[in-house]
Amino acid sequence: MVVSGLLATTAIVLTTVTASTPVREDWFRFAALAVCASVHLQLSRRQEERRRSRKPTVQIDLVGIWSFAGVVVLPIHLALLGIVLSRTQRWVVARRPLYRFMFSTSSVLLAAVVAHEALAAFGPRTWSRTGVIDSIAEFGILMLAGIVYFSVQAAVIAIGIILLRPSQPTIRTVLGTKDDNELEALTIALGTVAAILLVNVPAALAIIVVVSVIGNRIAEINQLQEAVRTDPKTGLLNIRGWREGAERALSRVERANGSAAVLMVDLDHFKSINDTWGHPAGDDMLEYVAHALRGATRPSDILGRFGGEEFVVFLPDASTDEAKLAGERIRRMISELHVPTTDKRGGPVAITHRTTSIGVAIYPDHAKELGDLLQSADAAVYEAKENGRDQVRIAS
Ligand code: GH3
Ligand code: MG
Ligand code: MG
Repeated sequence: MVVSGLLATTAIVLTTVTASTPVREDWFRFAALAVCASVHLQLSRRQEERRRSRKPTVQIDLVGIWSFAGVVVLPIHLALLGIVLSRTQRWVVARRPLYRFMFSTSSVLLAAVVAHEALAAFGPRTWSRTGVIDSIAEFGILMLAGIVYFSVQAAVIAIGIILLRPSQPTIRTVLGTKDDNELEALTIALGTVAAILLVNVPAALAIIVVVSVIGNRIAEINQLQEAVRTDPKTGLLNIRGWREGAERALSRVERANGSAAVLMVDLDHFKSINDTWGHPAGDDMLEYVAHALRGATRPSDILGRFGGEEFVVFLPDASTDEAKLAGERIRRMISELHVPTTDKRGGPVAITHRTTSIGVAIYPDHAKELGDLLQSADAAVYEAKENGRDQVRIAS
């Protein structure tokens, strides 16, 4: 964070001392963007509060529309001033930890400076009555600036997450989800349109305000859709999301005349963790098990929390032997977990050496429908339990 702060400050100082002094038109454009950003912030305030309280990870703000428009049309110091003003307003609403707010703000400022410099390298922009060929060239230049803006922010945030996160970073946490990135791309695209409108038909910016507020709503719907399929405790799919994904994968396997496996993973004597150290300790264990499952499987495998302390895994294209190996890998990785947590009084303890019973059902050997495969895998778990726990059992 310190490094990115220093980088941002240096870049800002370097570019602002060389920047042109604003003329009256610049101040007018600055005021127009500031008004639009404030209206947008006010109209999406409640909804942004809800959105942020749901997801504590990297946030992408459609208010960036006005920031990027500023980067394109304003002298750099006014563009940066606009970014600081709108982010401060947003912070009053969001009240995230200050260090994170400062970090993401410095990533935006740095991206703004670099993108502005990239644009400036092509000389001054003119967008009135451009012919077809010129407009293609202009479009290319704007796209380039957008890509630079996007990449610098993504790179700074990725570095920050790798350095600051205590847990092992995954591609998803470092680069953000597909939805996050789509939203950021939309922000930059609308920012570009806002810039062109601001220069040619400033009053038409009102259209972008409306679109941006609606865009925020759509982003919320997207996030709710995601939440409906996700288990909040572990971040894995919940049973609804898992069934959807597994059904899709199963029909692909069916069409290809392939095989597949369903694993039911049940932690042994889980209740004793709760009884001995309390439910928060049990919850920590569940999170670590989810992490172990991710580590023991491939990205194309489908992981879910069936409920309680039971997890389900769908392995597309797996044979009986491969499924058995995957089950053994999962069993071993859970047994090797070292889970730092707290006891009932809040003192530190570590949960280690936990065993797991895993039932495996194979498509098409044991059943052809997903529901029946789950049933067979579950029956195999009970056989494993009766047989002494701590083992992988293929359905009979
Ligand atoms: P077995 O070896 O036979 O599987 O024993 P077990 O204790 O793992 O199984 P049992 O079904 O008796 O108990 C499951 C326990 O899991 C009971 C319940 O309190 C606990 N549990 C279920 N969901 C959660 C949760 O989200 N958090 C915590 N901490 N505990 C949970
Ligand atoms: Mg159970
Ligand atoms: Mg259990």
